Amino acid sequence: MAKGTIGVTTDNIFPVIKKFLYSDHEIFLRELISNAVDATQKLKTLASAGEFNGEIGDTTIHVKLDAKKKTLTVSDNGIGMTADEIVKFINQIAFSGATEFLDKYKDNANAIIGHFGLGFYSAFMVAEKVEIRTKSWIDGSPAQHWTCDGSPEFTLEECAKAERGTEIILHIDDDNKEFLEEQRISTLLHKYCKFLPVPIAFGNKKEWKDGKEVETETLNIINNTEPAWTKKPADLTEQDYEAFYQELYPYTEAPLFHIHLNVDYPFNLTGILYFPRIKNNMELQRNKIQLFCNQVFVTDSVEGIVPDFLTLLHGVLDSPDIPLNVSRSYLQSDQNVKKISAHITKKVADRLHEIFKNDRAQFEEKWDALKVFIVYGMLSEEKFYDRAVDFALFRNVDGKAFTLKEYKELISGEQTDKDGSLIYLYATDTDAQHAYIEAAQAKGYDVLLFDGQLDVHWISQLEQKNEKNRFVRVDSDVIDKLIVKNESPAGHTLTAEQLTAITAIFSSQLPAMNKVEFLVTVEQTTSELQPIVITQNEFMRRMKDMSAIGGNPMMSFYGEMPDSYNLALNTAHPLIDAILKESETLCNDQIAPFVSEIAEKEQRRAALKEAHKDKKEDEIPVAEKEELSELDRSLSDLAEKKKAVYADFAVKQPQVKQLIDLALLANNMLKGKSLTEFVKRSISLLK
Ligand code: ADP
Repeated sequence: MAKGTIGVTTDNIFPVIKKFLYSDHEIFLRELISNAVDATQKLKTLASAGEFNGEIGDTTIHVKLDAKKKTLTVSDNGIGMTADEIVKFINQIAFSGATEFLDKYKDNANAIIGHFGLGFYSAFMVAEKVEIRTKSWIDGSPAQHWTCDGSPEFTLEECAKAERGTEIILHIDDDNKEFLEEQRISTLLHKYCKFLPVPIAFGNKKEWKDGKEVETETLNIINNTEPAWTKKPADLTEQDYEAFYQELYPYTEAPLFHIHLNVDYPFNLTGILYFPRIKNNMELQRNKIQLFCNQVFVTDSVEGIVPDFLTLLHGVLDSPDIPLNVSRSYLQSDQNVKKISAHITKKVADRLHEIFKNDRAQFEEKWDALKVFIVYGMLSEEKFYDRAVDFALFRNVDGKAFTLKEYKELISGEQTDKDGSLIYLYATDTDAQHAYIEAAQAKGYDVLLFDGQLDVHWISQLEQKNEKNRFVRVDSDVIDKLIVKNESPAGHTLTAEQLTAITAIFSSQLPAMNKVEFLVTVEQTTSELQPIVITQNEFMRRMKDMSAIGGNPMMSFYGEMPDSYNLALNTAHPLIDAILKESETLCNDQIAPFVSEIAEKEQRRAALKEAHKDKKEDEIPVAEKEELSELDRSLSDLAEKKKAVYADFAVKQPQVKQLIDLALLANNMLKGKSLTEFVKRSISLLK
């Protein structure tokens, strides 16, 4: 029997492995089974190269638990090892500066294991003793038995083993009893080995008989050795893709589309990505893209490998070029990985474009579900925007879908303003903004529906990318001003005094709401329109929307501001006109003295200002300065008194409040006490 010391420069590697690799120690099983798969594949390679002429036989890898003996065994039918090979591959772990390295990467078991080809040694994370029983494929080489108890010493001797291949026996230590539980091993096999290319048997299948679970004769094969992504797209049907999706994510609704990736230059990558039908956030977080390396599961956190917006997709990626055992930060700076990410973006865009071109009806039908991915992609990846802008769709309130280019053509006639800007009208809620939509459509405009979560950002992006294109919500101004087509809009036919009067009347009756401000504006629009329209400035509303979504600290400033609305009075409407006329009849006598006094004082004020025009501050006599400020004071006093007269009129004229309330009601802004009062007032007006 040979005895020896394992060739590590550091004196004792095992305590280090156990200690530092604690958190990730379940990966030992992945490592051992990967080795078994490799040994099997190598044998097949030797056979096809004509070097091995024997019988390959059944290559199933067996994983067995023996609770009594406290062992977990992984056995394969692969190439096996000769005594020399054990010495070379197992005993001599060639590395230098180990302590330094371990110290640096102590939090990342994967990094250490991968870096040093320590795959096999990860067994010592869970076992107090490891045995290898192996017989090489090479004719006449005796079977070998290697044991090691976790100290740098090992034993190596010949043993009786008839069949070719390797058996790794782990004597699970007391701290890791969980790995003697069937359920735990089953879960691990499912996680890491589900798609390995060689059949893996975990005991035999079980079935229920006479109320008891009994073992059957059939092996319990836990993996699918030929997962869909390893096949050629031409050999797969739509059903195959869906079935594979179900295999990955049982009980999940069928996906929208799939994309089969198959790249061999400048790196190797295969995979199938699915656009899921997302119903809720839970699903979004549960089902993730799974990353494989030669069919061995690596991870399902693919951030950094696929672009951010595609992490929402489902499916698998498999690349031998994605370093299996390195830290995440290393992965993100890896040039290969960066190329992979860019390539996936391009492929996804190409595939979407292809579906759009070949089956527009299907694309349109699925657009609403796809939109969030595509818009997210456009917002986060410049390159994706450039491609997606050709197939991203706008839907109008009637459900018709257009590409940007098509839409530009549609609206360029009616919706170009006086400065040559193309104005896109949009609604965010077809019910709440119904009246505005109707008004816009009556004017021959088209209205888009932008009700998605990312639309606020998307609109900004579209405006930035397309010069002289502006998005304006239908309720952001009165209809005549949404798209301003004439250089000089028709002026008011009202006198200055009438303007003051009507503004004062309605301003005096504004509702008091928390964090909401109203401003009365006077418009002269066509008489078919409502007497009062409530509008909210596009810019301010957008800033507030953005701040509500959050993310940008600059925006929180807008979030703090009250919502401000315009109460646009349509003076061409007979009801507003009637109120104005009535106020003139009832108030003019009271107003007249103020009006003449104001006129007098304003005249005097203008005269003084004229006289001071060319004078420096200290050349103006003190008395005149005092007179001026006295005039200002009394003018504002008189204006207030005038307003009070109009306010008095407004209180006695229930139509004023009624019209304001109707406008609020149309915007779903009339609530609580105000609503109750409105109802009461309406009933009394009906009497
Ligand atoms: P790696 O697999 O990264 O090379 P390991 O420590 O896992 O590192 O294995 C070291 C070597 O031991 C392998 O490269 C292989 O030559 C040999 N080996 C391990 N397990 C087996 C096995 N089941 N059958 C044949 N050879 C094996």
